[in-house]
Amino acid sequence: MVNVKQILTALGKAYPLAKTELQFNSPYELLVATILSAQTTDRQVNKTTPKLFSYYPTPEALATANCEHVAQLIKGVGLYRTKARYLVATAKILTESFQGQVPHTLAELLTLPGVGRKTAKVVLANAFGIPALAVDTHVFRVTRRLGLASGNTPEQVEKELENSIPPEEWIVTHHRLIRHGRQVCRARRPLCNECCLRSYCPSAKN
Ligand code: SF4
Repeated sequence: MVNVKQILTALGKAYPLAKTELQFNSPYELLVATILSAQTTDRQVNKTTPKLFSYYPTPEALATANCEHVAQLIKGVGLYRTKARYLVATAKILTESFQGQVPHTLAELLTLPGVGRKTAKVVLANAFGIPALAVDTHVFRVTRRLGLASGNTPEQVEKELENSIPPEEWIVTHHRLIRHGRQVCRARRPLCNECCLRSYCPSAKN
């Protein structure tokens, strides 16, 4: 039987200060950075956004942008042409339907181009402090290995985790699981011998 409380405590000790690595100064900047972060490292996004925001500091400015200009500014990130279109389309919706503000409900965020459940939950959690547990590739892999979840899709895993983890722990647990997935429970060759969760983990290898 998986002991959720012990796992959360061990993660808390290992990564007490875990938080998002994306750099942002407003909900708008976080939304843009999170859209850019799909299939791209946070480090690359952080290298890209300062120039983008110097040209387009607000949704109103980005809504009138030429997609090709935005694409050139974000060329270092994966799928940059598609993301440029998403960014401009999202900025138009923010301007026209949300008074230039980033909405703070899941349903409203999901109406924005380029925003799926993971992106929406990252924005809810990190821009507004609203309890949300985004399941990215690290959270998906680590929690399944730990036996905290068994679902075959991120949405199934999200439901399982939200049922077993108290809401006040969702945001920080998301960040801690990502840190653990990047540093220790890697996709290939997880470092089980160095893992603080080893004694609770049914997937631990020698
Ligand atoms: S023991 Fe291994 S598989 Fe289990 S969480 Fe740690 S690194 Fe991942």
